[in-house]
Amino acid sequence: MEKPTSVKAAVLYRAGWPLRMEERPRPRVRGPQVLVRVRGCGVCHSDVSLADGLFEASTPLVLGHEIAGRVEGLGNVLVYASWGCGRCEPCRRGDEQLCPKAQQAGWTCDGGYAEWVRVPSIRYLVPLEDLDPVHAAPLADAGLTPYRAVRRSLPWLREGGTAVVVGAGGLGQFAIQYLKLLSPARVVVVERDRGKFPWALELGADAVVSPRERVPAAEVVLDFVGSASTLALALRAVQPGGLLVQVGAGGGSVPFDFDRVPPEVHLTNSVWGSLQELHEVVQLARSGRLRWHVEAVPLERANEALGRVRRGRVLGRLVLVP
Ligand SMILES: [Zn+2]
Ligand SMILES: [Zn+2]
Repeated sequence: MEKPTSVKAAVLYRAGWPLRMEERPRPRVRGPQVLVRVRGCGVCHSDVSLADGLFEASTPLVLGHEIAGRVEGLGNVLVYASWGCGRCEPCRRGDEQLCPKAQQAGWTCDGGYAEWVRVPSIRYLVPLEDLDPVHAAPLADAGLTPYRAVRRSLPWLREGGTAVVVGAGGLGQFAIQYLKLLSPARVVVVERDRGKFPWALELGADAVVSPRERVPAAEVVLDFVGSASTLALALRAVQPGGLLVQVGAGGGSVPFDFDRVPPEVHLTNSVWGSLQELHEVVQLARSGRLRWHVEAVPLERANEALGRVRRGRVLGRLVLVP
């Protein structure tokens, strides 16, 4: 494969500024590092938060952590984008996404809003086999993060139980499917945008309600928004001894003291997923049991894509194609 010396990239120079399209030198690789030719990179709400300065980024930075690409000899691959130190306890048990020193593509180092991306080792590449890379790119986060959150919720979910999914966006749509595949629970979705109701039902939700309606009592509430109002709603719905998982970093918080949370409730957040879990997600996707919407957008239109995600004008995932 021919490797040009300069590559296109959409670069964040300063929070609040539009990304700048530029030509930069192709990343160099040393030792075990691998260069991946990007085929598609999903646009995540976190990218908007980084671009807007709600999350801190060390600029200049190429955004993008949902990367699918091509590597000589391997074919199409999905990039696992959280690269741990390899020595701490979370790393040793395979939870590199929890490593305090992790390098993360599109957060702490350059990501996939570019023609090429550098990955530290071949072991972070998950072969896509027959999956289309543009379609598969969102699996790296929108597919992986809810998989971990749902897996961790399974001990609370028995026959006759209820799981509430708050937010039927890019991640929530996967959560509905994992809950139906992996648990016997009834799945109720809380979603503000009525336009997303039919798709949530088609993906297997047993009911969809708006935040103004009564939300049923639940053993598990997964909040993919994480705003003050959704967390308050989640806290009202979760049962004594139940589990509230905050997945979306929407700036809300939960008061915690003896009287203001239900008795013996478990409060946790869920952060991305492990490399092993990404392999499992790709397996599920390859088996044909997951469905998700993707709209391809040329990399040159990255700012427009961020704007649409910022305004919530996307049914599934936008994927930038260089
Ligand atoms: Zn993300
Ligand atoms: Zn570590």
